[in-house]
Parts: sequence; C-alpha cells; structure tokens
Amino acid sequence: MSAAQSSDQPSQNIYLPKTSESEQLKKIRHTTSHVMAMAVQKLFPGTQVTIGPWIESGFYYDFDSPTPFTEQDLKAIKKEMVKIIKRKLPVIREEVSRAEAQQRIEALQEPYKLEILADLKEPITLYHLGDEWWDLCAGPHVESTAELNPKAIELESVAGAYWRGDETKAQLQRIYGTAWETPEQLAEHKRRKEEALRRDHRKLGKELGLFIFSDLVGPGLPLWTPKGTVLRSQLEDFLKQEQIKRGYLGVTTPHIARVDLFKTSGHWQKYQEDMFPLMSENDADRNSEQGFVMKPMNCPFHIQIYKSELRSYRDLPMRLAEFGTVYRYEQSGELGGLTRVRGFTVDDSHLFVTPDQLDDEFLKVVDLILSVFDKLQLQNFKARLSFRDPASDKYIGSDTAWEKAENAIRRAVEALGMEHFEGIGEAAFYGPKLDFIFQDVLDREWQLGTVQVDYNLPERFDLEFMGEDGNRQRPIMIHRAPFGSLERLIGILIEQYAGVFPLWLAPEQLRLLTVGDDHMPFAHKVAADLQAAGVRVMVDQSGDRLGKKIRNAEKAKIPVMSVIGDQEVEANSLNIRTRAAGELGVISVTEVVERVKGAIANYGDF
Ligand SMILES: [Zn+2]
Ligand SMILES: [Zn+2]
Repeated sequence: MSAAQSSDQPSQNIYLPKTSESEQLKKIRHTTSHVMAMAVQKLFPGTQVTIGPWIESGFYYDFDSPTPFTEQDLKAIKKEMVKIIKRKLPVIREEVSRAEAQQRIEALQEPYKLEILADLKEPITLYHLGDEWWDLCAGPHVESTAELNPKAIELESVAGAYWRGDETKAQLQRIYGTAWETPEQLAEHKRRKEEALRRDHRKLGKELGLFIFSDLVGPGLPLWTPKGTVLRSQLEDFLKQEQIKRGYLGVTTPHIARVDLFKTSGHWQKYQEDMFPLMSENDADRNSEQGFVMKPMNCPFHIQIYKSELRSYRDLPMRLAEFGTVYRYEQSGELGGLTRVRGFTVDDSHLFVTPDQLDDEFLKVVDLILSVFDKLQLQNFKARLSFRDPASDKYIGSDTAWEKAENAIRRAVEALGMEHFEGIGEAAFYGPKLDFIFQDVLDREWQLGTVQVDYNLPERFDLEFMGEDGNRQRPIMIHRAPFGSLERLIGILIEQYAGVFPLWLAPEQLRLLTVGDDHMPFAHKVAADLQAAGVRVMVDQSGDRLGKKIRNAEKAKIPVMSVIGDQEVEANSLNIRTRAAGELGVISVTEVVERVKGAIANYGDF
C-alpha cells in the first residue's frame, strides 16, 4: 500500500483544507454566516437554522426550509444581509446554563438546536446579533457587523445536504457563500474559482476524451479510453524505467485474496470499513478464512513473495514493485472524478531492508520521488511527517516500533534539509509516513507521493533474513508510492497542465491537417513514417474546412500540428506549429521525426 490514497485517513479529498487562512478571515466568514441566517429567518419565517461554519474560502449554513431556495431568493437574502450589516449590530457573547439554553430554544421552536445542545458542554455560549437574533455557537466572530464589508461578500450556491450528513435524516438546504476583507480579495477569489473550473479535470477529462464513467459500471469506477490509456501507460513506463535503474524488481499479484491474509496484516481489524464486503461460495464460509476479499492494499501480497524463500542478507535490499490495482469501499456520496475512486492503481513498491540499510534506502526513495516530480514539472511541494496520534487505538504495533520508524523518517528529512511539518494522526495504521504535499498553480494543496517505514508488518508476518552472523533477523519494510495512485496523479496533472500535456505524455502528439483532399495521400505517408518512429500522430480526416480543423486541434490541445498543402507535398516537408512556441515554419519530415524523438527523450518541448 501506501500512497496518498492508501493511508487510513480520509485523504482522497479533492484537495487538502488550507490551514493558512487568517484568524480574521475565519471570524469574518463565521459572522457573515450568522448574518445570512438572520436574513433567511427574517425573509422566510418558519425556516430553521442548523449549523453554519466557516470553510476554506467561505462559509455555509444548513437550513430546514419549507421550499428550496432559488437564485432569486439568494439575491433577496444578500440584500437583507447588507441591511443588517449597515445597522452595525454588535456581536454579543453570552454564557448560559444548559437549562436556560433549553428554555430559550423551546421558545424559538427550533428542535435542531436541541439536538445540537445535547452535544455541547457547559457553559453553553450563545452569540447574539444585536438583540433580535442568536444562535448556539462557540465563536470566534468579529465584534460588530460593521467590520463586514458587503462588497466583499457573495452568496454563491444552494445545495441539498442531510442533517448530520446522514441520508436517513432530514434533507436540508445548504447555502454557500464567500466573504473576504476587501473587494479585491473577493475578485481574486472569483478569478481563481473560474480558473479552477477551467482546469477541472472532470470537465477536461471529458472534453479531451481521457476517461468516462458509466452508471452501469458504477460510481467511482473510471473507464479509461484509448487516449487516457496512453497517459497511464506513459506514466507507468516512465516510472518503471526509473525503477529498473534503481534495482527494483517487478511483480504481479491477484486482485482478491483470502480474508485470512488481511487478518494477519491487520487490515481486516483496522481497515474493514474501507474494504469491499467478504465474498464466498457458500454462506457458511462468510467470516471464515475461506472467504475472499478485494485487496485494499498490495503490501501483504508482496510480503508473501518475500516470504516464499528464506532470504539472506545478501538478497537485501529487495525492492518489489507493482502497479497494483486496489479497491476501497468509499461512500458513494463522496465520489467524483479521479480524486476519490473505488478502484485505483497504486505505483506501489515494498522494500525489504536490513536495519543497516534503512536510512540509505529511505534517502534513495526520496531521491526517486523528487526526480519523478522534477520530470513531471511539479515543483512546489512540502514534506509532511505523518505520525500516529498516540491517543488513538486505530494503529497496530508497539511503541518502540513506532518510535524507531518515526525517528528514521525524521533523520531522513533532516539529512536532506527538507522543509517539513508534522501531521499528527496522519500515519497509516501500521506505520508513519513521509507525505509530499503538492501546491498547484491555484495554491491548492494535494497529497501526492508517500514513503513509509514499517516495523509492524514484518513482525506480524514473521519475516526473516539470514544475517551475516548466521542468525535469523527481522527485516524492515519501506512502503512507497511516488505517484500515490495513477488516477489521482492524472487528475492533478490535468488540472496543473490545464489539459496541455507535455509532448512525452500527450495522447496525441502531432496532428496533420490537409488543405484539400489531394493532400491526403501525402499526409498518410508522413503519418506512417512518424508512427514507425514511435510518434503518436493522427490525420484529421473530418472533411472540415482548414480553419475548423485548426480550431479543433487547438481545442484538443495537440502539442504539435502541421498544415499540409501543395508546397509541403512538393518539398516533402511539414509546416510546423506548436502550442509551446507557435509557428516554426517549414521543416523536413526527417528533421521533424528527430526533433519529436529528442523532445520526448528530454521530457521537453518540440
Ligand atoms: Zn504497502
Ligand atoms: Zn458563530
């Protein structure tokens, strides 16, 4: 296992919440959410408020209202909010006893508040806007609505939500809004939102024909088209080559296994919620060792290969690698695009090392990850030391094992002088991780590659090697996945590149556009030559006019295109235009082949 997606954390989120938002912004957003709730209750009597937190770049409130809110309603609510803000209402904190709070809620006739109250500890805090509206809340807020700038606030959308996120409970209306200190910040937020929409990998994936979803196949199970499959195999081949240079050995393992395998590893005990249910030939086998499960991680399989022979210290380090497809039973409500899926392929590897080899091998893995990021032009990232939360019982293994593993990771980042921070409670259930958090062009953070040090699974599977002294010793495992998963990486790359892939990754590298049908035979001959040289080339056979062919090639974000007319046919050359450099003029076919090959070899442009 290992991987962005493979820890036991809910880390498949679209992106990680930012921790850098200022305290003042949190206060502004939270107060604005109350102002919105007050406006809603004024305009729509009988509406009940539930919760209204600040969130990354905004806030929301969940309402139980008799009818759904419309766009028109949002406008009216915003207008009412401006009125409230302009009245410069003080935001007043009040502490009351549980009994007092209960009495006041009963007077309001808002039963949701009673449920919220039941979870609160005394003293109960209420926040008032002036003397006409209040809600149960812990704060923090600004001191007066005068601190809010109506020109820096916007109501953005309405969505359905369930009370307590539970589909069996009441359906609520969630209004999302955003609030900033200045109108300029709001404008920048809107620009980024538009840019995020333009780069959205779900939208681009469809437009560029990379992957599809089918209702019959099911949610969270992407189907890769021929073009998307080129992307996947380019990435796989690239990493496989890097791994061969570094002494990795490829293995292939099945997608299902006896549940007993995962009882031994501890997955069944600690990870069962994320696993697809047990399958078996007859009911009697359910819950017995005879039942089978889909694999949620690859580690136990690689461990079996390690264990199939008695290994000697001379065999170590042993680095087993596989693009292993794993299955996680994600809630269907959480699925969307490639960032949270139910089946995904981890660029997985497990290194079995002696204690003496641990530090060196760990550094080599980090070096591999950094060189992968470099080739993919992912420059902006930081390292998170994902350690266990000592207070939680979701981990396996002894304190000593955890300490040793966490210290090994600390030593590595210190040796590398890497900028890093600690994430307590972010570890996998069997060991701590070093996670690489990538910051994209829109300042959003994504969890990419990961390395883990593991003393626990070798213990549980009783792994050994014959030491130099003739005694049996325990190896240490390193789990690592530079990409995290192919699905997640491709989702991130689509957004980072805005669909414009570098030449070596582009599913279609070069497109030939003929002026007229007369030029088709030449185009096909050139295409055959390019194809023979390994270039992914297409001839536009649409019969469209040239202008439309050019526009289509631009829309498809083809890195190199070539228009073919009489001149090109006569000169046996191509008129080349690239996305990266524009018009390059007439170049001989032989030179085009050489330049494409050179660019691919250097991970560069034509
Ligand atoms: Zn693993
Ligand atoms: Zn509040």
